[in-house]
Amino acid sequence: MRRLSVFGATGSVGQSALDLVRRDRDAWQIVVLSANSDVAELARLAREFTPEIAVIGDPARHDELTAALADTNVGVAAGADALVDAARLPADLVLAAIVGTAGLAPTMAAIEAGCDVALANKESLVSAGELMIAAAQRSGATILPVDSEHNAIFQCLAGGRLDQVRRIILTASGGPFRTMPAEAMARVTPAQAVAHPNWSMGAKISVDSATMMNKGLELIEAHHLFPVGLDRIEILVHPQSVIHSLVEYVDCSTLAQLGSPDMRIPIASALAWPQRMATPCAPLDLAAIARLDFEAPDEERFPATALCRAAIAEGGARPAQLNAANEVAVAAFLAGRISFPAIIDTVKRVLDADAPAVPGALQDIFSVDAASRAAAQHFVDQLEHA
Ligand code: NAD
Ligand code: MG
Repeated sequence: MRRLSVFGATGSVGQSALDLVRRDRDAWQIVVLSANSDVAELARLAREFTPEIAVIGDPARHDELTAALADTNVGVAAGADALVDAARLPADLVLAAIVGTAGLAPTMAAIEAGCDVALANKESLVSAGELMIAAAQRSGATILPVDSEHNAIFQCLAGGRLDQVRRIILTASGGPFRTMPAEAMARVTPAQAVAHPNWSMGAKISVDSATMMNKGLELIEAHHLFPVGLDRIEILVHPQSVIHSLVEYVDCSTLAQLGSPDMRIPIASALAWPQRMATPCAPLDLAAIARLDFEAPDEERFPATALCRAAIAEGGARPAQLNAANEVAVAAFLAGRISFPAIIDTVKRVLDADAPAVPGALQDIFSVDAASRAAAQHFVDQLEHA
């Protein structure tokens, strides 16, 4: 039995992972299940998977969760510090599937404790990449990428070494507005933006896919996970999301990883690594798919990837600033407060400020995160009342 903790258990990635665990129940012992505020769903999962502890992020819901699990042996805790404490409990693998920088502290705690981490929470790596990679090197924790592109690259790298890589090609679906003229984007609704053509995902990452910010964040993620040099990481639009990324070696041999667009495939790869586990996913039917299309990204209509490339090239706390501004802007768009193009405008305005000091510790990242959120909130308020 392997001990597994699932942070963000009620989310899209968390539920997909638990679906795999459910199919091979005897192989896994669940240590932690966490959620932000959905007590009913967390309690339901806790009854099914009997973790050592269930943690609710919102401290105001502690009593509610305690009552919901009173007749079980599951421990109960609440609040941000409890998430960090739970991340330090001994586990063979910690699935980091909280969305946003809310996942940073528990993910870092797991890494510092030397636990291997299956990383879905890309925002934590974007904000604190250097610190996180350094912590993993110190503690010996392995970071196994769950993001489908990075999981694909990780698998393709089994065939070679980083210093033999000529290019990493990060594929992008292009999102729901891939062919939409720029003028029409001012009118898109949150419902249209979260309706991804290929993947079913949480609201925040779905909006990020629509702005292409997701691919920009993934460029930064790839830069930290696979340090081949930023100029060796390219983005290629591939609308069918069948090829999840490619690695080209110095001999011009290119390896790709393919699969149906079902997150359970990369999640299974990370959970079972270095083994393989069976999944209920649809195998690829290439004859039915018949063709795969590719096109260069359009950075005029979708400037987010260029913003991210510039932010990670500058380094320091710029990516943390960008990520925080984006989280605030996406939430404001989802709440109907700002238009779709205003998401990237808000991020740009926050990035207009002077570069924050280079972060030396996690606390510096939290400070930059908080200041950037306040700045983004200020621009959102201005836009809303303009
Ligand atoms: P989601 O919104 O469906 O779920 C998010 C989870 O995080 C929920 O369990 C929620 O309760 C928890 N959470 C949210 N805010 C929290 C807070 N403040 N404190 C504690 N817990 C909190 O999101 P998702 O789509 O599952 O994405 C999770 C992460 O995985 C994101 O970083 C996303 O970028 C990444 N990812 C997702 C997919 C996908 O297919 N959904 C693919 C690749 C990467
Ligand atoms: Mg991805």
